[in-house]
Parts: sequence; C-alpha cells; structure tokens
Amino acid sequence: MEVRSDPTPTTRVLYLAGWGRSGSTLAESLLDQVPGLVGVGEIKFLWERGLLQNRRCSCGTPLRSCRFWVDVLGEAFGGMPDDATARALDAASRRFRTRHLPGLLLKPTSPPDADRLLWYYETLERLYRAVATVSGAQVIVDSSKFPSYLTALLQSATLDVRVAHIVRDPRAVAYSWQRHRHDPDAPGDAEMPRMHPGATALYWSAWNLATERIARRSGSPYLRFRYEDLVREPAATLRRITELSGVPAATVPVGERGEVFVPRTHQVSGNPMRFHSGPVALRLDDEWTTGMATRHRYLTGAVTVPLRHRYGYKDG
Ligand SMILES: [Zn+2]
Repeated sequence: MEVRSDPTPTTRVLYLAGWGRSGSTLAESLLDQVPGLVGVGEIKFLWERGLLQNRRCSCGTPLRSCRFWVDVLGEAFGGMPDDATARALDAASRRFRTRHLPGLLLKPTSPPDADRLLWYYETLERLYRAVATVSGAQVIVDSSKFPSYLTALLQSATLDVRVAHIVRDPRAVAYSWQRHRHDPDAPGDAEMPRMHPGATALYWSAWNLATERIARRSGSPYLRFRYEDLVREPAATLRRITELSGVPAATVPVGERGEVFVPRTHQVSGNPMRFHSGPVALRLDDEWTTGMATRHRYLTGAVTVPLRHRYGYKDG
C-alpha cells in the first residue's frame, strides 16, 4: 500500500473582497507588480464572460486566444474546456450568489447537489493550481469580490485563502454607480450598470458585513484596507497586503507626481481600467464631494451608518 507522507500541496489565494466600484481593479494592478503575486481578475466570471462569451482578457486578446489563459486551461483541463463544461461550471458558480448565502451557510446540501459541488470545488483547485504553475507566482490574486464566491473557495482543503477586504467611502461608491460610463467589454456596446444611491447604500452595508462575517467564521487571515489609504499611502498599504500574502515585502515604485507604472496583465472581467497599461496617476477620485446631489449624499450617508463610521468615514 502506498503511504503518502507529504502533506497535500496547497495553492495560496489572496482574495480581494469588497463591493463594486471600491477600487479593487487598481489594487489588483498594483499587487500584480509585487514579485510572487499574480493578479488574474475576477475568476468567478472566467466560465461565462471568458469562455462562453469570449470577452477580452485585460491584455486585449479575446480570452480563448490569450496565450496565458490557453496555457492555464491546457494545464488544468488538458485543453480548452468544451461549452458544456463551461456552462456547468458557470451554473455551479451561480449557485454561489449572495441571495443563496444563508442556505449555503446553514443548510446541509442534498446528496446529488453535494456531488456536483464537490466536482466544482475540485475543478477550482485544479484551475488555481494551474494559474500558479503557468505564472510561476506563489500567490494568486483573485478580485472576484463576491462574499458568496469566497465561501466556495473556503470549501477547498488545498486552497490557502487569505482575504484582503477593500472598502471605500460609500458616498463615492454611490456616485460612481450613478455615472454613465461606456463599458468597452460588454456585448452590444453597452454602458456599465447603474444603480440608485439608496440601493447602492444598502448593498454596500450588506456586502461588506457579509464579507467580514464569512472571513471571521472561516478563521482565514483577513485584512481590511481603505481605497483612500491605498491612493494616499500606496507603499505602506501595499506592504500590509503583501504581508498578508506571506511573500517578502516589496516596494512598488511611485513617481514624483504619484504615478505608478502598470504593466500589461491577464485579468478576467473587472473595471475597464484593467485594459490600460502604462503610467497611472494615483489620485483620489473625490468628484462626489462636488458632483453628487445633496439629497443623494445625505441618503447614502444615513443608510450606511454605523458601518461607515466604523470604517472611519465621517459625516459631512
Ligand atoms: Zn491575456
């Protein structure tokens, strides 16, 4: 009988959690430059937007033709997964939606479902392992953000998941969700989705609380950081996140005018800024302080108390 003495090899994942428009794409682009880390975008959407819709990788190439993802999927699956497999994986990842969260956390799953979920977890393990192999990185930065998808990753015994939770002033976030913005990635030349500030404020609170709760329950290493601190003090903030990742501290060079150089990455889905490589100005986007309607500003401010205060965002 063969006895395995080696512990099961683990793949380390730095999970960027947080509500949309909080600056996770910027954070990921900066983290991607730290030696030992690779930022691969919102892996949750690899099956639907990447494989089935063949949307562009952040390198600009449609995902099915991107050399990086062709190599990763070849390593994980022995070739490009067929549409039926991609659809099944997308369906499994849709199971991890926020509205299903209470059920996933509390109820035992029925046996047929359990089998399907086990297959899904094992496939994720293979995928993340393949990303590590192809990139040569020690830590995979996944900016999927969904607290629900985090629960899926936490089911795996071979993924060493660490949670970096990005938060941003909810009034800035609500203002961003109000703006008309072209989405170069969406089919049919669409705009990025918009949301009323009242809805954004509710989501902001619920999403951030769920993230904290799931991370705390799992006992995974967890760090919360503010978008505003990342922009104002990039070196110190990145050092904290790098420490959480368990790789040696590294500095990301910041120019005299606060600009950083963002190299080309291979991120799946995410904010359109991921398509931009080259110098990026680290400048606090606080347009909401002058551009946001007063009633929306007060509504968002009121709905997000007390969490907003706990995160250090004052009234006014
Ligand atoms: Zn690519």
